[in-house]
Amino acid sequence: MSEPKILLYYAFAPIADPEAVRLWQRELCTSLGLRGRIIVSPHGINGTVGGELDACKQYLRRTREYGPFAGLEVKWSTGTGFVSEAERAGSGAGAASAGSDAGSSNTEAISAGAPGASGASGASQRPLHSGRGLAGKRRPAPWKQIVDFPKLSVKVRDELVAFGTASELRVDATGVVGGGVHLSPAAVNELVAARGDEVVFFDGRNAYEAAIGRFKGAVVPEVATTHGFIGEIERGAFDELKHRPVVTYCTGGIRCEVLSAAMLERGFTEVYQIDGGIVRYGEAFGNDGLWEGSLAVFDGRESMDFAPGAAVVGRCAVCDAPSNRLVNCADPACRARFVACETHAGERCHEHGGSADASPAAVARAVSG
Ligand SMILES: [Zn+2]
Ligand SMILES: [Zn+2]
Repeated sequence: MSEPKILLYYAFAPIADPEAVRLWQRELCTSLGLRGRIIVSPHGINGTVGGELDACKQYLRRTREYGPFAGLEVKWSTGTGFVSEAERAGSGAGAASAGSDAGSSNTEAISAGAPGASGASGASQRPLHSGRGLAGKRRPAPWKQIVDFPKLSVKVRDELVAFGTASELRVDATGVVGGGVHLSPAAVNELVAARGDEVVFFDGRNAYEAAIGRFKGAVVPEVATTHGFIGEIERGAFDELKHRPVVTYCTGGIRCEVLSAAMLERGFTEVYQIDGGIVRYGEAFGNDGLWEGSLAVFDGRESMDFAPGAAVVGRCAVCDAPSNRLVNCADPACRARFVACETHAGERCHEHGGSADASPAAVARAVSG
């Protein structure tokens, strides 16, 4: 029996040849029928892919055999289902898109790095550094493909998360250098128990994500994208927090790896980050800890609750009614997301002629009000 599973993972470590890693990862995923998005940078890897349970296990085992990815931070979740045989025969979209950038020039890098690669399936692909053979379960191709991602995308970028701090970010074999102190979910509660209101939670996500769920009393920066944080910090918006204990948090932890280092670099003196982010904290404490509301996610679900009865902290961007439903602006070209009640779920943002205020400032007003 196969189950649809989704992996969310990252590792910070110096990558000498991101392009070679990209080619290896694309081959590996293609050979296992995995779909999703992977970014490789000189600082590491960040990805979310899904497929059959056994394929995900093989993917993790092989990826961790590459030294820099040995400490991959991984979260598992259950996918919606698999593409049917009929759909697959009809479109072949997954395989076609996975192979669409196959003709690029760096084949020598991967053949030099992975001499074991052979066969059209790529199933015998080896990690770049490994001298060991891989005795993965032999499975008849093709693997089933998950419906939660339309295709496979593997890209090289300057940054794993786009804070615009690529030139100052330092990583070594242990991860980001100079980042905030990692706290387990239990240690977060202990810090608050010990230091009380002195502790500040700092939301490292885009404002719309914070609109439906956040830590109690959190500071929610007025940013629409990750790129906005550094500007807000540098214009002094959070200067009064620089000498307080600040707990940064984001969905799975990767954004705070970078953000916490950037804050320490800019004069904050006591910065923490949560191991595994909100996801791990929510798994540990559900609705009974310091987290309130729903968690925004980046697949078809839009948001999730850690337990039934999560607080509804969001406010409709049109009528202010309580809601934790996140929607996309009804203009198909718009990427704005905002909270909407049942009635206003099909609304457009102000920029697109609608009455939904999708601005970060509106979220901040709703949070503080
Ligand atoms: Zn409404
Ligand atoms: Zn819009």
